Amino acid sequence: MSIRPNPSSYVYVAGGLFDQGSKIAKVLDEGIRVIVGSGDRARLWEDIRIEGVRLKEAFPRIFSLASNKTGSVNEFGSWSGGRWFWKIDLRRPCFDWEKNQWTAFNSCLDNIVLRDSISDTIGWSWCSTGQFSVKSVWKRLEEDFVGNSAVFNRIWKSICPPKVEIFVWHLLHGRVLVRNVLKRFGLISNNIFDCPMCGDAEESIDHLFLNCKWAWNLWGSCMNWWNISSCPTSSLLDWWLNWPSLCNLNSAARAWSALFFAMTWTIWEARNERVFKDASISFEKAVDMVKFRVGWWFKYIGKGSKEPITLILLNIAERCVDVKSPKLPKHKDWIPPKPELLKFNVDGSARGVPGHAGVGGVLRDCRGRVLCVFSDYIGIQDSVTAELSAIEKACGLCLSRTELKGAKISVVSDCKQVVAWINCNGVGEWKYLHLILEIRSLMSRLNQVVVEYEPRETNLFADALAKRGADGGGFLLKWSDS
Ligand SMILES: [Zn+2]
Repeated sequence: MSIRPNPSSYVYVAGGLFDQGSKIAKVLDEGIRVIVGSGDRARLWEDIRIEGVRLKEAFPRIFSLASNKTGSVNEFGSWSGGRWFWKIDLRRPCFDWEKNQWTAFNSCLDNIVLRDSISDTIGWSWCSTGQFSVKSVWKRLEEDFVGNSAVFNRIWKSICPPKVEIFVWHLLHGRVLVRNVLKRFGLISNNIFDCPMCGDAEESIDHLFLNCKWAWNLWGSCMNWWNISSCPTSSLLDWWLNWPSLCNLNSAARAWSALFFAMTWTIWEARNERVFKDASISFEKAVDMVKFRVGWWFKYIGKGSKEPITLILLNIAERCVDVKSPKLPKHKDWIPPKPELLKFNVDGSARGVPGHAGVGGVLRDCRGRVLCVFSDYIGIQDSVTAELSAIEKACGLCLSRTELKGAKISVVSDCKQVVAWINCNGVGEWKYLHLILEIRSLMSRLNQVVVEYEPRETNLFADALAKRGADGGGFLLKWSDS
């Protein structure tokens, strides 16, 4: 296959067969990955991509300044002593405001490893083997569909500037260029992928933004303005899903939501200061930046307060209060249990009748603290089996932990029918009988556990965990103390 000139590349074929704007064309287009060898065939600005984005789109200012806009990679530098040296000619020197992009661009280039002896080739991004398959296209399309669900719509209802919303959208889709992403795309050499903030682990999105010591301390300090504490979830996406339920105060909803954006934005900024400028933002300064952002956005974008900003910053939790909050969703994402009770939200999901199915659940106390999350794949099942299996799994987990013996736990499902079957004396539908009897048996051994119904919109976190299981996200079980 010829990459250059370009009469018959996949990209071209995709553009010819489908509407340029169609989802399939987009998936095909983004899936084509050029594996750089000697840089003889791949065009620098067109073919080299970072997380699916062409260099010319990732660095538009630099592209517009570049003298050579169409050349192949090997036209942009030379070999000397077995090493490749980049040389990008610009029509004029960068202005001050262009220098950040220039620095970022060069650090991207530095991570592209050229190999003199082999020609450039084409690979396929949406499959781990690098081989194109129709199945991988459908999987990707489905992911995009899921990506548009209500879970992400919350992003666009914030009080933050659009650029921050867009950043968080990319972040939650795994499209922010942390080092393990750069490594995956062969844009970084193997010895510089550790976290720039702590140096203790590989820099991934989940690590840098959540599990890193530095980041987690920052979350803790800022959540403490509302006297809220929690333990981190294993992924940033789970953290986002769980975020609204951590804070039960209706009046704090908008500021609390803004905190998530201010936190991730500030962490990214501090990280980039360290990576690109070798400068560090102190922990105290980072806390102040988060505080300032939440206060500023609340006052000026959310039009939430007429008080002077200085006064707001003195006490974010007390000053950033929604008096009347017309934009709040009518329902609550989660209803906390009464004190002394624990609530185990569970859900089952089947992608078909029957189809690939998964179960998921989250155990929380009355303050919304997460004690346990689980998610798993259960094979090809119908949705009722999935719902029942989720309840069974939750009961089994309760029984497995000595500290939960005798605890009062409400297992909550959003399927009225199965809750009724479990709680009445009848047998329900015969084909589910074995599961119903198993659940009743577990409940009798637990004796303080009840199974209850709550509407679906209060069960979103469990719903997402179940879908994750159904979509092959793999087995997940995490207790807060482990
Ligand atoms: Zn770290």
